[in-house]
Amino acid sequence: MTVIRQDDFITSVSDALQYISHYHPPDFIRALGEAYRREKSPAARDAMAQILVNSRMCAEGRRPICQDTGLVVVFLKIGMDVRWESSMSVADMVDEGVRRAYRNADNPLRASMVSDPAGARRNTGDNSPAIVHMEVVPGDHVEVTVAAKGGGSENKAVFTTLNPSDDIVDWVLKTVPAMGAGWCPPGMLGIGIGGSAEKAMLLAKEALMEPIDIHDLKERGPRSRIEELRIAIHDRVNALGIGAQGLGGLTTVLDVKIRDFPSHAASLPVAMIPNCAATRHIHFTLDGQGPAVLPPVDLDLWPDVHLDPPETARRIDLDRLTREQVVEWRAGERLLLNGTLLTGRDTAHKRISDLLNRGESLPEGLDFSGKLIYYVGPVDPVRGEAVGPAGPTTATRMDRFTELMLSRTGLLGMIGKAERGTEAIAAIQAHKAVSLVAVGGAAYLVSKAITSARVVAFAELGMEAVYEFQVKDMPVTVAVDSIGQSVHRSGPDFWRLG
Ligand code: SF4
Repeated sequence: MTVIRQDDFITSVSDALQYISHYHPPDFIRALGEAYRREKSPAARDAMAQILVNSRMCAEGRRPICQDTGLVVVFLKIGMDVRWESSMSVADMVDEGVRRAYRNADNPLRASMVSDPAGARRNTGDNSPAIVHMEVVPGDHVEVTVAAKGGGSENKAVFTTLNPSDDIVDWVLKTVPAMGAGWCPPGMLGIGIGGSAEKAMLLAKEALMEPIDIHDLKERGPRSRIEELRIAIHDRVNALGIGAQGLGGLTTVLDVKIRDFPSHAASLPVAMIPNCAATRHIHFTLDGQGPAVLPPVDLDLWPDVHLDPPETARRIDLDRLTREQVVEWRAGERLLLNGTLLTGRDTAHKRISDLLNRGESLPEGLDFSGKLIYYVGPVDPVRGEAVGPAGPTTATRMDRFTELMLSRTGLLGMIGKAERGTEAIAAIQAHKAVSLVAVGGAAYLVSKAITSARVVAFAELGMEAVYEFQVKDMPVTVAVDSIGQSVHRSGPDFWRLG
């Protein structure tokens, strides 16, 4: 009988969450490095370079890879010969580990979980509770997998029940383009086939915890129907040309992992969940000998990469920005932003929209005229930082507010990640505005361009408050220009194969 002590388990979960906040899994670094070497699309190559530079900076600086430090998902396989020495339930111990990790004073992580999700959506303050999946299995130890899953990629999870005669590859090829780029490719696809609706979703999530090995599989050749499907989906999704950040390119997925389970003769349940550029998970075993020991990742693992030189981008003075300048920018063009930016994301937009629709004014000091808004919810700063990791959140979620923001506040444009929908593009074109993208998954690198930050409105919203940032050479790409051209349409069209 193995005894697992409460504090060993809590410490292990907490240490694992801190570890994955700043270390990509080694297989992910290797696979992204290979994709970077193969990439021909300049925009996708630069995005991958930013993600890799960011990844190494986070490993060295022990700061989060992404400002979205994720919802915590834990898989436990608990041996039947294990006894817990604890006054808490297993799920409560996991939550305590989450609290300790997210409130770590040396590397505080962003709390993203909200309670009353259909109502008040109050931040729980410590990122608890975690999503915990437990299985009781033969044996005398506990297998633990800890993952932090970004909201942008989790939002793209899809489920369908196909007819048994339907083609799964066809469904994936129809579904992936509809997911847009809000899941921050390049990443992975986890696919669950069979079981029931909830089983297929769980299989898809579990599949994402497996190591990247598609190139080994291709070399040795498939030995099962599932392996054939993995290869077919990997090749054909990459041939869609979506590319890193949806900018168009050769690699959208680094691997496709599939798990299956028997299903009812009448059904073919299929679930698909993407994992993003901030893929974060770790696996360890507890055998009663104390907390997990997590070895640092060797810094030699990161490949040499080259960011696009500053002279290839247009430098912009945000404090003297005019509509006449904005209309000159073209989709795909790279800019370096300097000066004052305002921030705001989902809840701030809702508040602004409610105020304006009631005929009320914006809070004192909040003036968007002649400004750009950056969709971001940063991590709290430490050790003299102006701000913690502060990468972009998905712009598409703000589409419904775009017409109002452009027509009523004097705003000239927005900065986020991923594509804009038809409604937002029409508003951008009508108001001769612009939508820019920064690289999702390069949050620590982006934060180095922010020289000061102060809250100007809605302080009670925490990371969702409106900040004023001063930025120096913040790299962005024009995603939608003032004539309605979108790089998320033209890029994949150009790089699509066949
Ligand atoms: S890389 Fe993108 S999807 Fe992943 S956590 Fe960061 S912002 Fe979210």
